[in-house]
Amino acid sequence: MQRITRRNFLTAAVAAAASVMRAQAKPFDGRTMVVITAHADDFTLFAGGTIARLIEDGYTAHLIRVTNDEKDSYDLDAGETSHRNTVEMRAAADIIGIKEMYSLDFRNDEMDPIPETEIRARLIFLFRKLKPWTIFTFDPSAKYEENPDHKKTARAAEDAAWTSQGHLFLPEHFSQGLERWAVVDRYYWARQLDESDANKIVDITSTIDRKIRAIRAHKTMMRHTAWSLKEKLAEARLRLPLLDNIDEESVNRLIDIQIRERAESVGAKQGMKYAEEFHYVPLAAPGSYVMKNAVPLK
Ligand SMILES: [Zn+2]
Repeated sequence: MQRITRRNFLTAAVAAAASVMRAQAKPFDGRTMVVITAHADDFTLFAGGTIARLIEDGYTAHLIRVTNDEKDSYDLDAGETSHRNTVEMRAAADIIGIKEMYSLDFRNDEMDPIPETEIRARLIFLFRKLKPWTIFTFDPSAKYEENPDHKKTARAAEDAAWTSQGHLFLPEHFSQGLERWAVVDRYYWARQLDESDANKIVDITSTIDRKIRAIRAHKTMMRHTAWSLKEKLAEARLRLPLLDNIDEESVNRLIDIQIRERAESVGAKQGMKYAEEFHYVPLAAPGSYVMKNAVPLK
C-alpha cells in the first residue's frame, strides 16, 4: 500500500490535473483564424459550418468585415440598413462562436475608387496584430464571381497574406510592437468553385443547425433576399407559394430549405450528409520535401 506523504499527494494531484488537461485538449488549441468577409452574411452562408467546427476543435476566431453593408435591405434607408446589418452580424458571429469583430467600413458596392493597397494595409495591420494560423475568405481565382466587393476583398486578403511577412511592407508597424506574420493556410470559398479548385470538402453535419440559426440572425439581409427572389420570379412570370406572404416564418423556412439543399449536394460528392467545400491552400503540398522533413520546433 502506498503511503500518502505530502510528496506523493502532490505528485498524484499534478498527474490528475495533467490527465484532465489531456482529456480537454483539443486538436487546434492555441490556433487563431481570421475570417475576412465582404458583407455581414458571406461568412455564415459560405463557411459557417466549417468555422463553427474548427472553433469547437480549439481555434479562436476573429471576423473582419470590409464594407459597411449600407445597401442590403429591402426598404430601409442607408443608415438604418448599415446599423441593423452590423448588429445582426454580431448576433450571427456569436452563434458561430467568433470572438472579436472588426469592420473596415468601406462603402458597400462603392469600393472602386479605393486602392487595393489601402485595403491591404488595413488587413496587414490586423494580421500582424491577430496572428492568424488560418484565414477564410473569397477565392481570388473564382471565375464566376460578379459581386465587386467580393472580388476586391478576395484580392486584398490574398495580397495581405502574402505581404504581411515582409519586413519592408509597412515597417512603421514594427516600432509599435507588431511583428511580421506569415499566414499558414487559407480556406477560400466561392459562389461556384471549379471542380479542380474544390480540393477540401468539410463535413458540417454536426454544425449545420448552428449555421442555419446564424444565417437567420441576418434578418434584414435575408428578408431582402426573399423579396429580391420574389420580384425576379414575378418578372419571369413565376411565383413561389412559400413567398406569397413574406414574414419571419417564411424567410426562415426558405433559409432552411436552401442551405440544406446546397450542403446536401456538396456532401453527396463524398458520402456526407451535409458539407461545405473550399479551395484550400496549405502551408506546402502534402507529401512534398518540406512536409516530409519538417520536425516540431521543440
Ligand atoms: Zn456578399
